[in-house]
Amino acid sequence: MTDHPLEARCDHCKQLRPLFLYEPDHDFHLTGITCEWCARDKQPLLCTRCWSAEKQREENDPGDPTDNAMAEFFVRACNNNARIIARQEADKATCDGIAAATQQAEADQ
Ligand SMILES: [Zn+2]
Ligand SMILES: [Zn+2]
Repeated sequence: MTDHPLEARCDHCKQLRPLFLYEPDHDFHLTGITCEWCARDKQPLLCTRCWSAEKQREENDPGDPTDNAMAEFFVRACNNNARIIARQEADKATCDGIAAATQQAEADQ
């Protein structure tokens, strides 16, 4: 083991430089493996310059349209569910209120 980074040929520019393993950092995919970074068997070992260039490229990648649509669909579905649950709670509260009022009215008779 060495303290300094491994010096070898960069996977991109092929220069002999200290290399760092590129690790993609993006949202997970709902449709499975769709982007080129995830599809890689092995992430490249890059020099700092290529590493930053790669990062830039990843950040600028718009992502897979199917995947984006799926993500949006889930967000919407979750919002809808939250709304339905809130509605059900409200309905239940109303029913409970009516039941309580009815019982009260019966007790008063
Ligand atoms: Zn390089
Ligand atoms: Zn990916």
